[in-house]
Amino acid sequence: GMAEEMLGVGSLVAGYGAEPVLHGIDLQVREGEVVALLGANGAGKSTLMRSLAGLHRPVQGGIHLQGHELGGLAAELIVRRGLVLVPEGRQVFPELSVLDNIRLGAFRQPQDREARVEEMFARFPRLRERQQQRAGLLSGGEQQMLAIARGLMARPRILLLDEPSLGLAPKVIAELFAALDGLRAEGMTILLVDQMASLALALADRAYVIEGGRIVAQGTAAQIAGDDALARAYLGAD
Ligand code: ATP
Repeated sequence: GMAEEMLGVGSLVAGYGAEPVLHGIDLQVREGEVVALLGANGAGKSTLMRSLAGLHRPVQGGIHLQGHELGGLAAELIVRRGLVLVPEGRQVFPELSVLDNIRLGAFRQPQDREARVEEMFARFPRLRERQQQRAGLLSGGEQQMLAIARGLMARPRILLLDEPSLGLAPKVIAELFAALDGLRAEGMTILLVDQMASLALALADRAYVIEGGRIVAQGTAAQIAGDDALARAYLGAD
C-alpha cells in the first residue's frame, strides 16, 4: 500500500506584512519519498521552507508531521520532532571547527553524539580529514556537506534542503547529488528546493511547481520532467 504521510501542508498562507507571499499551499511528502519543489526566483520556496521549520510564522494553514500539528511550535521543538532544515546559504559557523559545527547539530540531543559524529565522518570522509579546520576555510561544496551533516546529527524524520547546489561547480554538484541519492537509498524522506531542476527531478519521486505563491503543477518527477510547457518555464536553469 501507500507509504504513510510524513509531512502534510494544508492551505498554508504566509507573507511579510500585509501582502501574502504564499496563497494557500497544499503539499504532502510520504515516508521515504524525495519530493522536489521547483519554481522561479521569488516564487516563495524559501518562505515555505522557513515556515515549515518554524523560522517564519505563517498567517494560517496546517503543518503536520506524522499527523501531529507543528504550526506555532518553536523552531527548536520542530527539530526535536524530526523536521530539519538545511537552509539556503548553508550557514555554517565559519569561526568554529568542522567538528564543532557537526556537534552543534546534536544541540539538545547529546546522547551518543560522538557515535553520530563518527557516522557523519564515514558518510563524508572529507569532513573527517578537515575536522580541526575552521569551517570558513572549507570549499563551498565541503560547506554544503557540512551543513547536511549538521542537519543529519539531529536524526531527522524529514530533511528539508533549500538550494543545496547554489554557487557550486558542476563537478561538486554531481558529488552533492550522489550524496543525496545515498540518503534516498537509505530511506531518508527529503523535500528539496533546487534551481538544478533536471538533477532534482532525476533524484525525486514527485515534484511540485510553485509560481507566485501557488502550486501550479504537481506529479511524478517523470511527469513534470516530460511536460514541455513546464520544461520551458522552469527547467531552463541547467
Ligand atoms: P529565491 O530562489 O530567490 O530565494 P524563493 O522562491 O525562495 O526565491 P522567497 O525567498 O520565498 O522566494 O521570496 C518570495 C517573496 O517574498 C519575494 O517577493 C521576496 O522578495 C519576498 N520576501 C522574502 N523574504 C522577505 C522578507 N524577509 N521581507 C520581505 N519580503 C520578503
